[in-house]
Amino acid sequence: MDGKIPPEVIERAKKLREELNYHSYRYYVLNDPIITDREYDNMLKELSALEKKYPELITPDSPTQRVGEKPAEGFKEVRHSARLYSLDNTYSEEEVLEFHNRVKRLLGTDDIKYICELKIDGLSITLRYESGTLVLAATRGDGAVGEDVTANVRTIKSIPLKLRRPLDIEIRGEVFLPKSEFKNLNDERSEEGLPLFANPRNAAAGTLRQLDPQEVAKRNLDAFFYQIVDPRRYKLETQWDVLAFIREIGLKTEPHAKLVEKTEMVIDYWEYWQKEKHVLDYAVDGTVIKVNSIHQQEELGYTAKSPRWAIAFKFPAEQARTKLTQVSFQVGRTGVITPVAELDPVELSGTVVRRATLHNFDYILEKDIRIGDLVILEKAGEIIPQIVKPLSEVRTGNEKLIEPPERCPVCQGPVGKGKEGEVALRCLNPACPAKLERRIMLFVSRDAMDIRGLGGKLVKRLISTGLVGNFSDLYKLTPFELAQLGTGIGDKIIANLLREIDNSKDKPLSKLLVGLGIPGVGKKLALDLAKHFETLESLEKAKIEDLLEVQGVGNELAENIYNFFHNEEVLKELDELKKFVNTKEPLKKREGILEGKKIVVTGTLKNYTRKEIHDLIIALGGEVSSNVSARTDLVIVGENPGSKLEKAKKKGIKIMSEEEFLSTIKGENSDDLS
Ligand code: AMP
Ligand code: ZN
Repeated sequence: MDGKIPPEVIERAKKLREELNYHSYRYYVLNDPIITDREYDNMLKELSALEKKYPELITPDSPTQRVGEKPAEGFKEVRHSARLYSLDNTYSEEEVLEFHNRVKRLLGTDDIKYICELKIDGLSITLRYESGTLVLAATRGDGAVGEDVTANVRTIKSIPLKLRRPLDIEIRGEVFLPKSEFKNLNDERSEEGLPLFANPRNAAAGTLRQLDPQEVAKRNLDAFFYQIVDPRRYKLETQWDVLAFIREIGLKTEPHAKLVEKTEMVIDYWEYWQKEKHVLDYAVDGTVIKVNSIHQQEELGYTAKSPRWAIAFKFPAEQARTKLTQVSFQVGRTGVITPVAELDPVELSGTVVRRATLHNFDYILEKDIRIGDLVILEKAGEIIPQIVKPLSEVRTGNEKLIEPPERCPVCQGPVGKGKEGEVALRCLNPACPAKLERRIMLFVSRDAMDIRGLGGKLVKRLISTGLVGNFSDLYKLTPFELAQLGTGIGDKIIANLLREIDNSKDKPLSKLLVGLGIPGVGKKLALDLAKHFETLESLEKAKIEDLLEVQGVGNELAENIYNFFHNEEVLKELDELKKFVNTKEPLKKREGILEGKKIVVTGTLKNYTRKEIHDLIIALGGEVSSNVSARTDLVIVGENPGSKLEKAKKKGIKIMSEEEFLSTIKGENSDDLS
């Protein structure tokens, strides 16, 4: 290393790297952070500053090096050191018993234990570490040759760039896109007129094959691991030990794997998770049953395609059949016209489905869907109802083709394709009230300015009467105007609404940015932008290269943001808005409702990830701690809470469910935490 760097700086950088790697392991792998996000960010900033000053300090495993440059010539091919097999699979209990009998016969013993794991619906990945440093990540490909996706996999925060031991090792698992991310991604793509991903697996695959690691980093991929090549080398005797070892060296395993003593229990496990899979934030399409003993696995060996010691026991796809009665058209914020199938109501995976998106007209043609068809429905990634196919064999001849609208269904304006090669049809009228309506709905939504009581009907009315033509008009509404709308809303509701509008003026910049609907800017990026630029003015003035400094902003996005803030209409509207709303991101918490409170979270929450709830607590002035002690003020309890709940009960510490906590911080209940 360069002699000019003072030794204490070298030491400090090393220490920071180690600390940061350790804390991101606690956070992303153990899900049990022991420092606050702010402390983490401060260390990261310090390391970045040192590395900026002394670039020679940068090591490949530095946490600042997750997002790299685009590889110049696409993905290279990689020949795998050991084949990546696929799995035999079955949907039936009998075949599972046959599998068990075959294993018994081949091994010549009854003494067999199995591990049940969940089958993650993502894509296989293999990682190679040398002396503990990540050197290669590759996709399965055809099993013998895959693609080098190292630059993209480095952006996955739960995958360590450095293991907790300096091992030479190859580890295999599954990369996936959390369901919540999948939904956000498709919502955004639909607004931007891009084709939607059919399910989380396709979305994960599409993301991993993106050429720009900056884009990949934005998508929050995650990964679970379940296999080590040559486990004997590490003295591992069972699959159970393999899983423990994987966790020990710093990677994540799916937390619900189970060692079963009795063979019937593999069926119980499958039945249980078939019902309960909806609670997980990742798609699982079945269970995998594996012989636990590595010795027995070796004895059983492989067929040409798959191991003889494992079988995938898949969940049946939940489907329903119903009639498509009508097609309606929705006009989005950017004018994208989306055809929507109106269905005879039918129950599917626990909800009643009445509508399903048809995405775009290419999709309708490809599937040959017609009005009047009987169709098969499925939920993509257990979330969004999709039409799998029409039952064309039972057509009566009275079905009608679905024609693209010649004019915008809302404003009768002209329609066309926005850009060359785009699949979506758009309303081209810039003044289309449907677009305005969607923009206003986004502006007032929870993640944005959070103005309650302004529903779709009222917004429509405000637009059609000309009272609202842009965001700033909301702040000019008077009680008199609202009363004159003829929607029959009473004085009390009007007063509440005006108070909500008034309250929204104090929202932090990040929320305003979400509300503006900048192409490609969602909740997370809005927060990063707001933290980075601190004021709307400095964001407006930002050059492309300034924008590129923000984590997760690639070229395309930087250009989108830049263009947005260089559009005359936008600037005019922003100048108007500035008269009413706060345009700064508070550096300190503005609402001190949790000031000085020490809070512990345990279990899985419905509305928040761990990181989100921690951010929220800190934003409200609280402190997050990972262990319950006498100094703990509150324990928030989600599903499957750990021992922390017991501890809190014993110590008599205040306990709240997620819902109670949320309504308390919203001030909706009198429980004031004091
Ligand atoms: P399939 O793609 O249906 O042939 O299933 C085989 C694939 O399932 C493997 O190649 C893995 O990518 C994936 N998989 C997901 N979860 C697991 C697991 N727990 N154990 C083994 N394979 C898994
Ligand atoms: Zn229109």
